[in-house]
Amino acid sequence: MVNKKTDTELGMDAVITRRDLIHDAGMAALAMALCPSIVAAAPEKPAPAASSPSAADYPPVRTGMRGSHPGAFESAHALAREGRSFPEPVDLDQHFDLVIVGAGISGLAAARFYQQRFGADRRILLLENHDDFGGHARRNEFHQAGRMVLSMGGTHNLEWWDFSATVQEFLKDHGVDVDLMRERKQFHYGDTAPNSPAMWFDAATYGENRLVVNCDLTARLDSTTIDQMPISEAGRESFKHFYAAREDLLEHLDEAQAEDYLRSISYPEFLRRHGGLTEDAVQLFAKLEHGGWGVEMRALSAQEAMESGFPGVHLLGGSWDGEGWDYPVAMWPDGNASLARLQVATLIPGVAPGTTAANVAVARFNYAELDRPGNPVRLRLNSTVINTANTEDGVAVSYINDGKVLRVTAGHCVLACYHSIIPHLCPELPQSQREALEYQVKHPLLLTNVLIRNTDALDTLGIDGVRCPGRLMERLFTFRGINTGGYEHAIDDSGPVALVFWGSISPPADAVDIKSQLRASRAIMLGMSFEDYEREVRTVLDGLLGPAGFDVRRDILAITVNRWPHGYAYEYLDLWDPDWPEDEAPHEIARKPFGRIAIANTDAAATAYTHTAIEQAWRAVQGLPTRRPAGFSEDPGQP
Ligand SMILES: Cc1cc2nc3c(=O)[nH]c(=O)nc-3n(C[C@H](O)[C@H](O)[C@H](O)COP(=O)(O)OP(=O)(O)OC[C@H]3O[C@@H](n4cnc5c(N)ncnc54)[C@H](O)[C@@H]3O)c2cc1C
Repeated sequence: MVNKKTDTELGMDAVITRRDLIHDAGMAALAMALCPSIVAAAPEKPAPAASSPSAADYPPVRTGMRGSHPGAFESAHALAREGRSFPEPVDLDQHFDLVIVGAGISGLAAARFYQQRFGADRRILLLENHDDFGGHARRNEFHQAGRMVLSMGGTHNLEWWDFSATVQEFLKDHGVDVDLMRERKQFHYGDTAPNSPAMWFDAATYGENRLVVNCDLTARLDSTTIDQMPISEAGRESFKHFYAAREDLLEHLDEAQAEDYLRSISYPEFLRRHGGLTEDAVQLFAKLEHGGWGVEMRALSAQEAMESGFPGVHLLGGSWDGEGWDYPVAMWPDGNASLARLQVATLIPGVAPGTTAANVAVARFNYAELDRPGNPVRLRLNSTVINTANTEDGVAVSYINDGKVLRVTAGHCVLACYHSIIPHLCPELPQSQREALEYQVKHPLLLTNVLIRNTDALDTLGIDGVRCPGRLMERLFTFRGINTGGYEHAIDDSGPVALVFWGSISPPADAVDIKSQLRASRAIMLGMSFEDYEREVRTVLDGLLGPAGFDVRRDILAITVNRWPHGYAYEYLDLWDPDWPEDEAPHEIARKPFGRIAIANTDAAATAYTHTAIEQAWRAVQGLPTRRPAGFSEDPGQP
């Protein structure tokens, strides 16, 4: 019988940095748009917490429920899910050359490519539904005892071995030196400490709390390690056979047939059928791709899993002693938020004068300058676009900001937002394009930062990264050792650090097809309160680190839950998607320009990478028609 700790024992009443101000402000704004009479009855906003004086005007230091924070998505959901209509917009009489919907890396890149194509003096407005820019590339900034501790709230890194000429040129334009960044990165996803990586088996799932060190299911496990796993005896034996085997089980098939077969069965099925693993052994793999792919392992084919480094090739005539998995990513200490910051500093220099790639991580950004009248580029936060329409004069864009429904006009529009919302923003689109846009169901992701007082308990255990197969968030690691952008945080620094809980949320077993899985996972994510996430974090840290002296009441200083119900772009998967003929895949149909409206975002490539976000922005801007409609004073001219 497992003794569950009470909320008080877990420190749920302890004072930490978390704030519900944003929630209340956002909800009040939505209420005003949908039903003005509600506002009079709305409760008074709580005063901002005193611990972080700039939280009211500097979003990166806000804690609590972040990512897709309360107040950011309700208008879009009212439009898309409930089919709600909004009051007639108030015309702002503001005209731009370009309006961009979504200030993620793709939207920001579109602004830059537009300047390069049509001239640096072009008037551009970016509309973004969140209270911060960068989209998934979100910065989480903590302050502890006079020290700034950074972490990523979303997009982690620049990952690819080689970038296209467009991306290379773009990175150069922003002063980014990828090779230097790679050199300055000691961080390795919690694989650096002597006993890492480790697996933690929790009492609620496995009957006892047990930490098994130097345990990585993707490496060749030895019997001593397997013997420590609190699963069935049969499960441990099946693991021993699996890791010791060396066979060529598909030798009767030629290469193409073998690949077809491996693309037709799920990886868990491969482990059962060919690896001989028992169900409790297979279950240990279930969540291992929550972070990397944003799906359950059962959504991946055997081929996809093995290409991602999961074991199995040793059963197919391959060997364990391959060249290994080298993934030379470049990172900033706030993830790719620093790239978004560089983009903003380039487009709107008054926001952060003097910012360069050498100091971007520590530069202070003045958000009051983002939407300054008179600047050629303006970025308007907390603005959810609800309609974009081609008109005789160009494009009209309606959005909700602070509860008001407003309209601006432009010569061009780039939709750099999630594709699934576009049919609702642009109801005149052809049916085939609407269906193609709706095909995109993004993968939900969760990234929770927990600022802890020090790493004493982790150091005692000799770990900096742990897999937790039984818990909501499958993986956690310390985030330090990235010394770029003017920020220094040594990999062996034992002071305050952000502990990143990284992954997604498992859908129920009866969610069978991939889109049911993704939608069910998203529903659970949105249905959980901050307290639910906090209780989970405290339970894990108490069970994992408590025995080494970590006191959850004392040592947890702040919690920021970055939930991304619309996370990675939908990538086509072996088990769920057909092979479309060239130019007929949903993303290729979805991204076609529509009048003076072009479409960017990673969704436009069906590939969830930062370099893709940049490439798709470039493609969208090149696809804009050059002739200006009547009624606009200046002609943008030829490229
Ligand atoms: C947790 C997480 C980790 C990731 N890690 C990596 C990584 O390590 N490496 C990598 O290459 N990629 C990673 N990605 C993928 C990431 O999606 C891309 O790299 C990139 O940041 C996407 O940029 P984007 O501009 O295309 O989309 P987004 O960042 O999604 O930006 C689109 C913006 O449009 C806004 N928007 C949507 N609808 C509206 C509307 N109606 N009105 C106004 N605004 C709207 C959205 O809220 C959003 O802010 C990660 C993603 C997540 C969620």
